[in-house]
Amino acid sequence: MRALTWHGKHKIQCDTVPDPIIEHPRDAIIKVSACAICGSDLHLFDGFMPGMKSGDIMGHEFMGEVVETGSENTALSIGERVVIPFTIFCGECEQCKRGNFAVCERSNRNKDAAAKLFGHTCAGLFGYTHITGGYPGGQAEYVRVPYADTTHIKVPEGLTDDQVLFLGDILPTGWQAAAQCDIQPTDTVAIWGAGPVGQMAIRSAVLMNAKQVIVIDRVPERLAMAQAGGAIAINFDEESVLDRLNELTAGKGPEKCIDAVGMESHVTRSFDSVYDRVKQAVMLESDRPHVLREMIYVCRPGGTLSIPGVYGGLIDKIPFGASMNKGLTWRMGQTHVNRWTDELIQHIVDGHIDPSFVITHTVGLEAGPEMYKTFREKEDGCIKVVMKPGL
Ligand code: NAD
Ligand code: ZN
Ligand code: ZN
Repeated sequence: MRALTWHGKHKIQCDTVPDPIIEHPRDAIIKVSACAICGSDLHLFDGFMPGMKSGDIMGHEFMGEVVETGSENTALSIGERVVIPFTIFCGECEQCKRGNFAVCERSNRNKDAAAKLFGHTCAGLFGYTHITGGYPGGQAEYVRVPYADTTHIKVPEGLTDDQVLFLGDILPTGWQAAAQCDIQPTDTVAIWGAGPVGQMAIRSAVLMNAKQVIVIDRVPERLAMAQAGGAIAINFDEESVLDRLNELTAGKGPEKCIDAVGMESHVTRSFDSVYDRVKQAVMLESDRPHVLREMIYVCRPGGTLSIPGVYGGLIDKIPFGASMNKGLTWRMGQTHVNRWTDELIQHIVDGHIDPSFVITHTVGLEAGPEMYKTFREKEDGCIKVVMKPGL
């Protein structure tokens, strides 16, 4: 079969690789009808994540048709359409029973590698590093889904691939980011990053009746899309984020701040006054991470920082004293995708949200390597790339 494979920093290839086979009775094999490139894939593309091996199959946002099931998998039948959540989960361990699917205690087949780094294991992920199980991903014609009898979302009839594909990652990720903010009708929600995750967080915060939603980015098409979704846009290249946020909140600061950027380090920006002050206060030596520092500094005391943005390894010099004295709450993590499935499907069916609005590019798998560059560089108005192996 054809699949997009990782061969080091900025090297993705469309290769011919062996077809996946059933390895465990709970497995299923999915014939991929649509898959997408995520901002999290860019962290691998940029070579920031340890634990990748040459030839690893990329991709954790995908859906398709069940073509084979393991002998114990009675939950799925051949021909069914499913979206696969990016967090693989067993459904039986204590964490899964609590709905904490992204920290499933059983689905990571390299538990020791994760425990060495994190103190404990975390869930297995598709198309990510060997620290999260090294499971072959879904930017491919076929994929093996482990624990497929629980790790799936059945697609209701009448919905298109484009409408449901993002149920496996960015829609619940934006939703969880907003839900973790426990949004009150008096709250201003500020969202850093107008990429696909930020866009979903904006729509979610609007649906959750925030008083005001503000987005911070610098890419004009992304800011325009955010405005169309009901957000006030701040272009950090053109204006002071601190001044604008204070102006929009009568000097109080947003109650809820969402980091939908993560460790995107290829975007650097010079410090405006907020950084200079924080920098002086804590004698920072490094300019990163911008977003976390800015959120801590501008968030209203008693507020919440919600962090879907992905970080790997260490990040340095966080003004933790400011966070402590302001009494901020931090919520973060990979998304417990299936925790949110039922309510999100209902919102799609009811027409409250059509997640396909983010798609700017639809191509075949062969164009994938080129599309990684286009998405990373935000060229050609690119916001979200969907690949359909049939095209
Ligand atoms: P993306 O790279 O397309 O979007 C990031 C956006 O942030 C870009 O539009 C960029 O211009 C903007 N940006 C960069 N630096 C900024 C800054 N200093 N201030 C404000 N904006 C800035 O990626 P995406 O697909 O939207 O993903 C965003 C983040 O969410 C990534 O870190 C990704 O790994 C993470 N993610 C997490 C989960 C999860 O389960 N927690 C799931 C999916 C994605
Ligand atoms: Zn993702
Ligand atoms: Zn589990």
